[in-house]
Amino acid sequence: MSNLSGSTVSRKKKQAPNCFAAALVLALLGGFLGCTTIYVRTGVYHRVQKGETLTALARSYGVSVQDLAEINNIEDSTQVKPGDRLFVPRARRRPATVKPLPKGTPEEKIVFERGRFVWPIRGRLTSRFGMRNGSRHDGIDIAARPGTDIRASADGRVVYSQRLRGYGNLILLKHSDDFFTAYAHNSKNLVKKGRKVKKGQVIGKVGSTGHATGPHLHFEVRKGRAARNPLFFLPKV
Ligand SMILES: [Zn+2]
Repeated sequence: MSNLSGSTVSRKKKQAPNCFAAALVLALLGGFLGCTTIYVRTGVYHRVQKGETLTALARSYGVSVQDLAEINNIEDSTQVKPGDRLFVPRARRRPATVKPLPKGTPEEKIVFERGRFVWPIRGRLTSRFGMRNGSRHDGIDIAARPGTDIRASADGRVVYSQRLRGYGNLILLKHSDDFFTAYAHNSKNLVKKGRKVKKGQVIGKVGSTGHATGPHLHFEVRKGRAARNPLFFLPKV
């Protein structure tokens, strides 16, 4: 039995800047359905109790281990310790109990694809993917001097290259396997919509356009319309 603590997060109407790239991807995929109706940002916080494991939590809440791992930046399930506060995406309420796994059940593997993308810039990671002050941060922030070259993190095609509220100058690339990457707050976009790009090719320059407190790159990885944790797809630094 667990004494589950936490609070519910529900943001049905919030027009967060993060929302726009999601809406955009949807639009590009053919059906603009409106951000607010698709991206209902629900979830609950869960305080880990003694004996609870990531897999047991995932099963009790009905979410995937992978989603739990990515949104909480957990790279190894043995990192999870009693007292940790985890965000459980999409969950509406806490289960009455977190059922322990049957004896001998292995923890589900967390999957990484570290070679899929390369770092678009070098710089200090200033913000991770996941919950930030009660709302979702759908990418990572990398600080760099204004004007630093931004490079395509994989071969692909430019599907968006213009200003977008909140994001400033934004570039969106489409890659194989329904992956997208987004590059925001650029001082300059150097590629046009429709153009093919090669991995490592310079596509823009770092800036602080849109809602940005200083020069940095906001970088997103999406699989279809789902935001994924970029750190699970980039080489380890
Ligand atoms: Zn950001």
